[in-house]
Amino acid sequence: MDRLKASIRDVPDFPKEGIVFKDITPILANGQLFRLAVTIFAERYQRKSVEKIVAIDARGFIFGGALAHYLGIGLTVVRKKGKLPFTSHQEEYQLEYGQGVLEMHVDAVEKRQRVVIIDDLLATGGTAEAAARLVEKCGGEIVELAFLVELGFLKGREKLTKYPVFSAITY
Ligand code: AMP
Repeated sequence: MDRLKASIRDVPDFPKEGIVFKDITPILANGQLFRLAVTIFAERYQRKSVEKIVAIDARGFIFGGALAHYLGIGLTVVRKKGKLPFTSHQEEYQLEYGQGVLEMHVDAVEKRQRVVIIDDLLATGGTAEAAARLVEKCGGEIVELAFLVELGFLKGREKLTKYPVFSAITY
């Protein structure tokens, strides 16, 4: 875990002044570290009867794709507005440095399907909360919200008290 934390790069004032962006691309660029990050999630969820991974645009896709592949289960993408081709549910959200609309295909999660939602980082929790609402609109059951990194001082967990939350690395 220390090796993962040590390789996350702080980028000050990106994408806006005052935001310290946690750049996880050095983890992706190192095969051992990328595998370690995915293995943390894989070991946590392999015996929890998870049926679908819901990954959040865009860095969530990287970890979510690898995790779904490892577990041998399906992957659903939650995308920023205007990217999905089929009929979609929509949810507005606010995040640490902006706001927008997230979308998910109406048939991407089945009723009572056991879902893990994954993203690279939990900041204020607005993005993950919107993704959870999209899953609930389809009737899915949220097993857990999973993040590689959590910015604890932004108290995103307080917005997500309805759901179990896991993060591998906390600041
Ligand atoms: P939030 O909705 O505030 O929890 O923001 C989480 C989403 O925004 C995730 O998809 C993150 O990738 C991204 N994000 C927010 N703040 C940061 C940050 N300081 N460093 C890297 N990514 C961030």
